[in-house]
Amino acid sequence: MDIAKGDILVMKKQHPCGTDRMLVLRSGIDFKLRCVGCGREFITPRSKAEKNVKTVIKEAES
Ligand SMILES: [Zn+2]
Repeated sequence: MDIAKGDILVMKKQHPCGTDRMLVLRSGIDFKLRCVGCGREFITPRSKAEKNVKTVIKEAES
């Protein structure tokens, strides 16, 4: 899965705040993500995050 810094991830599972979109702050073995809805930041293992991604919105398109 091609995910880079600046991309928006549309998740299968919503964040508790109600949004399903996460901004990628850092991409690598782990992702650093920021919830677009509430601004909360967290680090999640790439393998776990990729399972929960529905769509990737590339930076250039957003
Ligand atoms: Zn949130």
